Amino acid sequence: MKSGLITDIQRFSLNDGPGIRTTVFFKGCNMRCEWCHNPETICHQKEIMFYANKCIGCGKCFEICPAGVHKAVDGIHVIDREKCTLCGKCVENCYAEALVFSAKEMTSDEIMGEILQDKVYYTESNGGVTLSGGEVTCQKDFALELVEKCKENGIKTAVETNLLMPLESTKDLLSSLDLIMFDIKIFDNGKHKEHTGVPNTQILENAKKLDELGVPFIVRTPLIPGVTDDEENLVSIAKFLSPFKNILYYELLNFNPLGSSKYKSLDGEDKFENARPFTNEALKALEAKLSGFGVKIKVGG
Ligand code: SF4
Ligand code: SF4
Repeated sequence: MKSGLITDIQRFSLNDGPGIRTTVFFKGCNMRCEWCHNPETICHQKEIMFYANKCIGCGKCFEICPAGVHKAVDGIHVIDREKCTLCGKCVENCYAEALVFSAKEMTSDEIMGEILQDKVYYTESNGGVTLSGGEVTCQKDFALELVEKCKENGIKTAVETNLLMPLESTKDLLSSLDLIMFDIKIFDNGKHKEHTGVPNTQILENAKKLDELGVPFIVRTPLIPGVTDDEENLVSIAKFLSPFKNILYYELLNFNPLGSSKYKSLDGEDKFENARPFTNEALKALEAKLSGFGVKIKVGG
């Protein structure tokens, strides 16, 4: 049996595909989107997260850490992450739960144990399980095992992917799903590389090949103020999608500002800390501009 690194399992999720779903968040990503609202999923290894607002200053982690990772500098709790061996002693002994690991290793059976608790809800709502991340295909073999176990139990499956891996290496996983959701964030290749760390050539090529697999898919663009939300970008994507046969719709996802506290807990910088979600009127205006390109448009949360 395989095991994978998982950051979270969310039950009763309503935003990650049709019906009531359980969403499993995979750790590790092969892109570096500047606005990522799940920064704890980016690194391929688990790391310590420190929530200063929960810390009661008991000093236990300072005493117990064998590597001297926790220090007070000018009265501020500083974490020397390079020295951390991930032994877990500080996490186990922080009763305020200010220190947590960003992920844990779980077997496919352990995850199925969580998934199966809500089977009746998936059936009644036409829901199922969504694999998300991070980037699921970075742990592809584990994802495939999980999908096969869901299938054996009559549970529908979906994936949220950045579609960056060559399709040849992910075809077995993607073709076994009931629904694929993937992003085209920026159509201009140079701008894509600037804001995500990688060019979009492979993603656009994969999108065309994916249309031949016959699995229904939804394409999304997260609306990031000043980066992805310009008309030229969105129109270019809508036009690119218009000949596709298996697309259900093109969805604009409103800006999600919820990553800020997670960035702080990892000593990272949230470049979009002051950005705010788009108003309903602004979303409707964007939706109107994209109608007429032969692809159904939806605006999501
Ligand atoms: S053990 Fe937890 S609550 Fe105590 S000082 Fe360390 S982080 Fe803060
Ligand atoms: S996980 Fe271990 S090494 Fe890392 S900070 Fe905690 S006690 Fe120190």
